[in-house]
Amino acid sequence: MNISVIGSGYVGMVTGIGFAELGNEVIFVDIDEKKVDTINSGKAPIFEKELDELIQRNRNKYKATKEYNIIADTDITFICVGTPSREDGSIDLTFVKSAAAEIGKVLASKDMFHAVVVKSTVIPGTTEKVIKPIIERESGKEAFKDFGLAVNPEFLREGNAVHDFFNPDRIVIGVRDKKTKEVLETLYKPFSCSKLITDIKTAEMIKYASNAFLATKISFANEIGNICKKLGIDAYEVFKGVGLDHRINPAFFRAGIGFGGSCFPKDIKALIAKAEELGVNPKILKAVIEVNEEQPLKMIELLKEHIPDLKGKRIGILGLAFKPDTDDIRESRAIPIVQKLIEEGANIIAYDPEAMDAFARMFPQIEYASSAEKVITKSDAVLIVTEWGEFNELNYKGKIVIDGRRVEKAMKEAGIYEGVCW
Ligand code: NAD
Repeated sequence: MNISVIGSGYVGMVTGIGFAELGNEVIFVDIDEKKVDTINSGKAPIFEKELDELIQRNRNKYKATKEYNIIADTDITFICVGTPSREDGSIDLTFVKSAAAEIGKVLASKDMFHAVVVKSTVIPGTTEKVIKPIIERESGKEAFKDFGLAVNPEFLREGNAVHDFFNPDRIVIGVRDKKTKEVLETLYKPFSCSKLITDIKTAEMIKYASNAFLATKISFANEIGNICKKLGIDAYEVFKGVGLDHRINPAFFRAGIGFGGSCFPKDIKALIAKAEELGVNPKILKAVIEVNEEQPLKMIELLKEHIPDLKGKRIGILGLAFKPDTDDIRESRAIPIVQKLIEEGANIIAYDPEAMDAFARMFPQIEYASSAEKVITKSDAVLIVTEWGEFNELNYKGKIVIDGRRVEKAMKEAGIYEGVCW
């Protein structure tokens, strides 16, 4: 099949190259010229394990461009552009709307049927109420008849994105017209997982409900963890016992400093904003965000139990990415922690294997170390913010360590050790 992918970020890049690996021809369209050049030079524009090899292997099956016209030569277009939060938490559809308009312009002069599939996470109703009228207006054609429209939410995890593309738990397709359903069924034929076909807005909601549930599980684990900490109970032992109940499941119970990333915070906030617009008060979702915003600052409270005045003290930060195995710092828990330490007058020295460049653009005033070891040797106390595998191989002997992510070696060796929820 000939596929075009609009937006070559974490989702678009992995999806497109995954489909190329499965034997399809893929065109990446992105407005970012640097990204286009990087992809055309055979490199990944983002850090994601196994992605470089996959790109190299499929070098002759894809190309990247800024020009939308080329999508006329493809059978199906995936919209994978970002859907960030507005100031008030509601979803910002600027990128989606402009992608839809550009697609519509191209479809105006295409005679053959073309399927447009929304992979970006969009609030229920967006595809039919916002995207559909834009494409119809620009193309002069009718949706579900002259062109197809569907939603195919993405569930990949950054850091495991390539693995998740090839091994999804399920594929959800929200579709109305028969032709688009057939195209998607053919495209996803090589996947043996459950495939759920729904209407369009149900598929949009499945994505939000999934993320809301996972985020709730994390904030729940953190709240129980906060109580455990006060009682001198190890929350990890507790959740081992809780997770053995098959109705509950042990995943996502790693109590700590909360969730970051480009999806959970923005998606939960967008769902809250939509619920309120509809007159529904989403009490649980609001509490999920509240717990998550307080959680990283627990590290500073614990640090101050051992160093009450942080002014002029050298505080080491291990990990800046929002989670290990990614260079993504969007909503990273390191951001509020570093902000608070700066307010307290601490001198910060930080290290992350992949995310230092991005973080330095946001915080040019702090020091960045060339290795994790240097952070340890040069600081009065160390805060572990992201659980990169290499942090479990460091020498923490004699240090004050405040651990937000439960790094076993630090637990065993540190001179003074405080876990956030244990
Ligand atoms: P991203 O910011 O990494 O990438 C978006 C890309 O779209 C960028 O390269 C940008 O230059 C490009 N772009 C913006 N406007 C464009 C336009 N009009 N035409 C062409 N290109 C354009 O975003 P992402 O993390 O890949 O997320 C994309 C969507 O997928 C979001 O809705 C997100 O919520 C959802 N999602 C993300 C993840 C994740 O783990 N990152 C997982 C599941 C779903």
